[in-house]
Parts: sequence; C-alpha cells; structure tokens
Amino acid sequence: MSHAAQAKAQYNLNKLHKRLRRGVGQAIADFGMIEEGDKIMVCLSGGKDSYTMLDILMNLQQSAPVNFSLIAVNLDQKQPGFPAEVLPQYLNQLGIEYLIVTEDTYSIVKDKIPEGKTTCSLCSRLRRGILYRTAKELGATKIALGHHRDDMLETLFLNMFYGGKMKSMPPKLVSDNGEHIVIRPLAYCKEKDIEKYAVAREFPIIPCNLCGSQDGLQRQVVKEMLQDWDKRFPGRIETMFQAMQNIVPSHLADKSLFNFAGLTKGDALATEGDLAFDKATIPSIPVGLEIDNEDEQPLLQAVELN
Ligand code: SF4
Repeated sequence: MSHAAQAKAQYNLNKLHKRLRRGVGQAIADFGMIEEGDKIMVCLSGGKDSYTMLDILMNLQQSAPVNFSLIAVNLDQKQPGFPAEVLPQYLNQLGIEYLIVTEDTYSIVKDKIPEGKTTCSLCSRLRRGILYRTAKELGATKIALGHHRDDMLETLFLNMFYGGKMKSMPPKLVSDNGEHIVIRPLAYCKEKDIEKYAVAREFPIIPCNLCGSQDGLQRQVVKEMLQDWDKRFPGRIETMFQAMQNIVPSHLADKSLFNFAGLTKGDALATEGDLAFDKATIPSIPVGLEIDNEDEQPLLQAVELN
C-alpha cells in the first residue's frame, strides 16, 4: 500500500472509531448503563460485534468520568470446530481479565431437538442461564451484550411479522429474576460501521455458523429486507430507529398504554394533536437521513435531485 493510501486508511479508521465511540458513549449516557464502581462482564462470542464492544469499552474506560472494571467472558459451547485457542490468545495480548466458561450445550441441544428443527431457542436459553450464573459467581454488576442498532430493528420486525407485538431488544433490562442488569452499549451503532471496524482492526473472528443452524432463519430474511431498504431508500433505517425512540401511545391502539376508554371531552391528546379528519403530514425526506456521513453523500444528493 502506498504511503498516501495508508494515511487515508488510517484517517478513515480514526473517523470510524470516533463514530463508534461517540455512539457507545451516547447510549451509555442516555440509558444510564454504567455507574461508578461497576464490574462489567463483557460477553465475547468471537464475532465482530462483541470484539468491537470490548474494544470501545476498553477505550472509553481510559477517559470515562466514572471508574468501572471489565471482565471478558466467553462461553465455549463445544460446537464442532470451535477454535478454543483464538480468544485466550487475543485476550492475553490485550492484557484484560477474562474467563472462558466451557459447557457442552451443543450436545444437549442436538440431543433434545429433532434433526432439521431450529435449535436457537433452547441453545440461547441454556447460554443465558450459564452467563447469568457466571455473572453471579464473578460478582459482576452489569452484563454487556454486543447487539447493535440493526439487531434491534430486526427484532422489532420479527416481532411484528411473526409475534404480533411491537417489541424489540431494549438497550438496558433487568433479568426475569431481578438479579442482573443487562446492557447493550452498541445500541446506537450501525452494523455497517462495526463490520468495517472489525476488518480494519483485524479482529480474529470466529465464524458464527459452527452449529450449522443459522441459514434460512427468519432473522436472515428480515436482515436482507432491511439491507435492501437501506440501499434503495437512504435514511429509512435511521428514521425507523428514531421511531423506536419516539413512540406516541395515544396514536396507536394499545389499550394498556393509553386510556382510550377513559378519554373525555376536554382531554388534550398528547403532543401529536388531533388528526381525525386530516392526513398525517409526512416529511418528504426521511427525518433520519444523515448529512454528516460521507459514505451516504452521493445517495443524499440523488434523493434531493429526484
Ligand atoms: S445460531 Fe447456533 S449457536 Fe447461535 S443460538 Fe442458534 S443454535 Fe445457538
């Protein structure tokens, strides 16, 4: 690579790093993810998302206004071909505290689920139980997962398409038994950015298809639908993500969120006003269309010209 090309690549990596760092910092602040003295168990699968999460959290740790510690945890589920040496090598290089938990959930899942059926639900239930138990043993105050903005949107659509619910993955939640707080520091980060960052930083990615059950899942179909929209309708993904943070219960139809039955004359209807006789005013350009992202400039110009 020429000197100029190297300088350009470094410049782009710095920009990407800044954008991810800003997104993580903002999510941490907006959702109160990290507090003074937290011990955060960072779940590391060996995929691009969890490597990026760990990298950015370690970086933020240097300058954060609060003190917190990190411990990386990987669960080796004994999937055939899992390269058990990759993560310890990487984590030793980083010099971070870590724990590899080995539990053969792969055999349990294979044993219990008939051939050809989806194994993910049992597999993730088992994984969740082991990770919660580990967090308790380690005395971790928070558990960090590497889900990002696009995972959250995919989950929203999956729940709408198949579950009949408007529900996604929250940036922060309490486990069912009330014992654990789970955070998703990448909640504001785009998968595209994470992908590019993981390539540029040459993270030693462990393939996520070792269990052989990912192809053909409904999630993949929704992912492709969103990727297609992203190409054809610039700004749509960003706008939908904004919508997830901007909900107007009085203008949906969930009786448990808004007391429609108790509405009486004289009640003001939230901030969105009365549209009973009007068409909603829809912006001609998606509100989430970014103008500060160089990658999207040509697309933005195309939209404005049309
Ligand atoms: S894709 Fe494989 S490893 Fe992941 S949850 Fe499903 S069965 Fe488990």
